[in-house]
Amino acid sequence: MKSLKNTLLRSILASLSLITVISLSSCGTSPKKKSTPVKSSNPSMGSRQALAKKILAHPKITLLKKQVSGRVDGASAYHNIASAARGYSAKRSYYGNAPGGYTRLNTKMLRTMLYLANTKGYSYRVTSIAGGSHSRRSRHYNGVAVDIDMINGRKVGYGNPYYRSVMRTGRAKGATEVLGPGDRAHSSHVHLAWPR
Ligand SMILES: [Zn+2]
Repeated sequence: MKSLKNTLLRSILASLSLITVISLSSCGTSPKKKSTPVKSSNPSMGSRQALAKKILAHPKITLLKKQVSGRVDGASAYHNIASAARGYSAKRSYYGNAPGGYTRLNTKMLRTMLYLANTKGYSYRVTSIAGGSHSRRSRHYNGVAVDIDMINGRKVGYGNPYYRSVMRTGRAKGATEVLGPGDRAHSSHVHLAWPR
C-alpha cells in the first residue's frame, strides 16, 4: 500500500515536472529582440543582393577598387558592389561634384552587368558606379549608372571593336543615357545609365 502510494506520488510529480518543462520551453520560444540590423524583406532587395554577389564573384567583371582620380574613399565600383552584396546601400563620394551619402543600386543595371559577361561573353572593367565625381546632376549619384573603360582586355576608344556592341546592349536592356567615344568627355569609357 505504501509503495503504491509512493509510485502514485512519483508519477504525479513526474507529470508535474513535465508540465513545468513544457511551459518553460514554450516561454523560451517567445520572440527575442535582435541586436543585429534587420535587412529589408522587400523582394527586390533580396534580388539586388543576389545580383551583386554574382557580380562580385564574376571572373569576367573587374571592379576598380579606387576612383579614377586615384582616391580611395570606400565609394569605388568595388566597394559599391561589395556593399550591395552584403545587403547595404552604396556609398557616394564626397569630393568635387559628388553629393556624398548613400544610394541603392538599380537592379536593371546589375542584371545588365551580368548579361554583358554571361550572355554576351565580354570581360570588362568597371571604373565607377555610385562613387566618383561626375557632372552635377549625374545619374551615377542615383545608383543607376555604370562606367566601363576596358572591354576584352582593350581600352575603350575608337580602336576598340567591342564598345559599340556594349552600348547597343545597354540600350536594348533599358539604358536611356548611353555615351561613349564620340560623345563629349566619354572618349575613354562607355557610360550606361537607366532612368532614375
Ligand atoms: Zn558615367
